[in-house]
Amino acid sequence: MLDSAQEILKLQSQGEATAVEITTSAIERIEATQQSVNAFTHINRELAISSAEKVDEKRRLGEPLGALAGVPVAVKDVLCTQDMPTTCSSNMLRNFQPPYDASVVEKLRKADAIIIGKTNMDEFAMGASTETSAFGITRNPWDLTRTPGGSSGGATACVAAGTVPLSLGTDTGGSIRQPAGFCGVTGLKPTYGRVSRYGLVAFASSLDQVGPIGWSVEDIALLLQCISGYEPRDSTSLKHDVPDYRAALESSDLRGLKIGILREALDVDGVDDAVREGVMNSAKVFEQAGAEIIEISLPHSKYWVPTYYVIAPSEASSNLSRYDGAHYGHRASDLQPEKAESLGPLVATYCQSRAEGFGAEVKRRIMVGTYALSEGYADQYYTQALKARRLIKGDYDVAFSQVDLLLGPVSPTPAFPIGEKIDDPLQMYLCDLFTVGANLAGIPAISLPAGTDHQGLPLAIQLQAPALEETRLLFAGAAYQAATDFHKLRPDTFES
Ligand code: GLN
Repeated sequence: MLDSAQEILKLQSQGEATAVEITTSAIERIEATQQSVNAFTHINRELAISSAEKVDEKRRLGEPLGALAGVPVAVKDVLCTQDMPTTCSSNMLRNFQPPYDASVVEKLRKADAIIIGKTNMDEFAMGASTETSAFGITRNPWDLTRTPGGSSGGATACVAAGTVPLSLGTDTGGSIRQPAGFCGVTGLKPTYGRVSRYGLVAFASSLDQVGPIGWSVEDIALLLQCISGYEPRDSTSLKHDVPDYRAALESSDLRGLKIGILREALDVDGVDDAVREGVMNSAKVFEQAGAEIIEISLPHSKYWVPTYYVIAPSEASSNLSRYDGAHYGHRASDLQPEKAESLGPLVATYCQSRAEGFGAEVKRRIMVGTYALSEGYADQYYTQALKARRLIKGDYDVAFSQVDLLLGPVSPTPAFPIGEKIDDPLQMYLCDLFTVGANLAGIPAISLPAGTDHQGLPLAIQLQAPALEETRLLFAGAAYQAATDFHKLRPDTFES
């Protein structure tokens, strides 16, 4: 099993493996695990092999190769790909074939990565378990009776199942970090605007961000390097220079670094003891590496979830209005005659197409968002949420005037059983308790494997940094991984 991008690059440069061999073995592994894990919505067999052949040819001719030459990478099915469908795991986009590549996909191709397929997700990235997909649930490779988390559950499960070393996920309220935590892999949500959203199907535009997933900080730094940077076609993309992320990994001496441990995160009800212990033990690891640990409070953190669940659905209701069967998306073919009669054929087409195309969770978000934005209620909900967002951001500004990084849990519990929360939206939303703050404030955050609980399920910790300080997250994350072996733990589900 080839699960490190660095290793794959080395094998090729030393002439011990070709890109075609690596790609073939990744495809075989996907096929062996797809039925049980269901991490992929689309497998790009022929095209992946032909791009691997091109990489091998370039190498043979001595032509310059990109930073990810011959490395298989999976892409969440919310990112547009010219040569593969982009479904957002929704019936609404079941037959959508984009005419262009997302900016990050273009960058992968430029880096000579092998784009191996598209990964399963919660429908339109709304969820925390990958159970709302119209293409079936994804299962957690550590325990097939449990969810991999979500919404990027396919993108983290495919790494945990050993099919690819790297994948791209998206994170609107935790969708990279929470499933990374559930699947025992490393995932990073960059600063809002660090990575372009061009070609990312919008869920909540002011929160969405693309980011890298892999086993180690070293590997995800490589992918982050490749996808970061200004994109003129995206008005929210930042013009800042991209630092050399891998240079940040050279030292594991944390002396002088101040890490704030989140008081509220550990006091709040419903947090599993093992999760709490994982955070406390990690604090000791950071301390031993030279960091100073300080207790920090973010007084408005109790408003994170309510604020997020007004802003995200509001933006979603607006973004998803384009899928009406006329402009975009699934179109109802047989209009119900009574509906056509009473609403007229155009409105009946909109209604029936949306009724058929969207799943229950997406409809719930559209209704909540439409309500929160409606005349007479917008001041009470949407405008209030924007004010709360400002206070939340202010808490971080104060905290980061005292510490360099914040340490806390990723989610309140390890991976939960399939079916446990799917009929209880509020319980599902509480999975996001510790992750949505970073999205509301636009700051970067990383999820790092932190051992296992008594059932052998992965535990994780989260580090958050000020805007554009990805380097600091990678530096501290690499130091943590140099001091622990948690990122080297692998599920044994498929090794019998
Ligand atoms: N679980 C959160 C939600 O359902 C976050 C999703 C995400 O980050 N895409 O909205």
